[in-house]
Amino acid sequence: MHHKDIVKKITELMPAECGVTKVEPEGLAVVVYIKNIDAFYKNTSLIKELANAIKKKVLIRVDPKNLMPIEEAKKEIEGLISQEAGIKKIMFVPEMSEVRIEAIKSGLVIGKGGSLLKEIMTKTGWAPIVLRAPTMPSVTLDGVRKINATGAEERKKFLVDIGKKICQPTPSSDWIRTVALGGFKEVGRSCMLLQTQHSKVLIDCGVNTATSDPAKAYPYLNMLGFSLKELDAVVISHGHMDHMGFVPYLYAYGYEGPVYCTPPTRDIMVLLQQDYINLCKKSFGVEPIYSKKDIQKELKKTITVDYNEVVDITPEIKMTLYNAGHIIGSASVHLHIGEGAHNLVYTGDIKFGFTKLFEPANTKFPRLETLYIESTYGGRNDLTINRFESENRLMDIITQTVEKRGSVLIPVFAVGRSQEILLVLEEYARKHPEFNVPIYIDGMILEASAIHTAYPEYMREQVQRRILSDRSPFESPLIKVAKGIDRETIVGGDQPAIILAPSGMLAGGPSLEYLKLMASEEKNTLIFVGYQSSVSLGHKIQRGAKEVPLMGDDGRTKMMDINMRVETAEGFSGHSDRAQLMAYLRNLRPGPERVVTMHGDLNKTEDFARSVGMMLRKESRALADLESIRLR
Ligand SMILES: [Zn+2]
Ligand SMILES: [Zn+2]
Repeated sequence: MHHKDIVKKITELMPAECGVTKVEPEGLAVVVYIKNIDAFYKNTSLIKELANAIKKKVLIRVDPKNLMPIEEAKKEIEGLISQEAGIKKIMFVPEMSEVRIEAIKSGLVIGKGGSLLKEIMTKTGWAPIVLRAPTMPSVTLDGVRKINATGAEERKKFLVDIGKKICQPTPSSDWIRTVALGGFKEVGRSCMLLQTQHSKVLIDCGVNTATSDPAKAYPYLNMLGFSLKELDAVVISHGHMDHMGFVPYLYAYGYEGPVYCTPPTRDIMVLLQQDYINLCKKSFGVEPIYSKKDIQKELKKTITVDYNEVVDITPEIKMTLYNAGHIIGSASVHLHIGEGAHNLVYTGDIKFGFTKLFEPANTKFPRLETLYIESTYGGRNDLTINRFESENRLMDIITQTVEKRGSVLIPVFAVGRSQEILLVLEEYARKHPEFNVPIYIDGMILEASAIHTAYPEYMREQVQRRILSDRSPFESPLIKVAKGIDRETIVGGDQPAIILAPSGMLAGGPSLEYLKLMASEEKNTLIFVGYQSSVSLGHKIQRGAKEVPLMGDDGRTKMMDINMRVETAEGFSGHSDRAQLMAYLRNLRPGPERVVTMHGDLNKTEDFARSVGMMLRKESRALADLESIRLR
């Protein structure tokens, strides 16, 4: 809808006594500034009526001239909220007439049916935004929230510009196509361009962290055929490096538009990208492809979207993110292009099966013609044992190692598998009090877990309840943080320990450091619980290599003996196995007209595409990088 029509509709609906001073698009919402908030609250359904009329989120703010002075408002707010809420911070953002209140028990700031929020707004004029404080301290969250509150003037200007760009009349495009730019017939640098006559949107933009070879690590952005400046939007499915690791590069080379993702994805993204910069230098000995400055730029341009929210990202494209069940905040992306011209779903990484942390991936979409589906475990032999057996097997391997007074190394992604495995170990320890083995977490796992505690609503109800009632599974006394303790002390003696450390594929990071310390001893065990890329060190060891090359501190390659026990515990993957992928497809409503397989090794994407075609009796194919499909 054009902005002029939006203003017209809103002026029609708003009672004169509210005193509207300005109607302004801001990012995905439309902001209505008014003088009299009491008058607005007289009609309780007004906000809904406004949103329905313009098909957009509407934010009501009090005109800056009518706000209570900050010091006075702060006192007023502190008086209104009970001590029990555990307020951590109150930040005023005058540019947006907003006050951000961070509290441990955010429900107590909101009040029944939002009653307290209303009271804060009517008494002070400031529009309260409630943020949940993590139950464990998180440097990332502090940083993200600070950047969002400072530099508000610049942020506002950016959001208004984006809002204006989106609120244009809907053009109709003669053609729609997608171009595979990375992560097709491979796992790593996921990236896909959706292009129409009038829009250019990038979905995911990852790096393959298992290799330092630029020809294999980065997506084919050089083949875009236009400059990065011309991109309208970037959508990120979830916070794994193979889906978002390359985004700061876009900002380093001229992109200035928005990144859309869920709130947890934004935080995890910033955390892992910063870690990647350090990893490049330390583990690969190469200069990182972008700097911290570029990550900050990205953060300032990130617009978060919750699950199931329909938003306009260009004048002709509506986007909705749905739960993908893979990691915290992970999403499948639904795009509605033109006035019903085409609907596509890009699954991202999906788990359609049981995990302790998340509900299975969503399978109901409003409309669907083309489905892009991940096929990490789409090969015909990719069938895993059930979850119950998986947990038993994992615990068997661990107890056998502990009996020999050996230690266990579990290389994991900092986000996803580490929290899932922590929950398994924590539950086992609760049920078996005699199991008294310390669980060390290293690298970014602590920080990633802390971010989880700020978003309980993104997890299964059981975990949610525990976090909200101060019994967070991530804060079990058995879990120890390896920071400040010598790694040799942890694994050197004959005191058994379980170590969870990134990276998940032993491509650098603390897991590789532990491996160097533990590999020679037969009593120790290495357990793989996640995907090992075919170019990774983890893959070689998993395949049975007894001697692997390692780069020493002096830059020379040495050989390392692997004498420790090596096991793979299946069934913990955040990805669906072949049967779960097939079940996902059978459960899709509506069924797609066409299926494209991606995010899997070459033979798996092809094999999976063939099987899907036979099962659904629809067009089904595996696309390769640089291939494109015309959707209209
Ligand atoms: Zn992933
Ligand atoms: Zn992935």
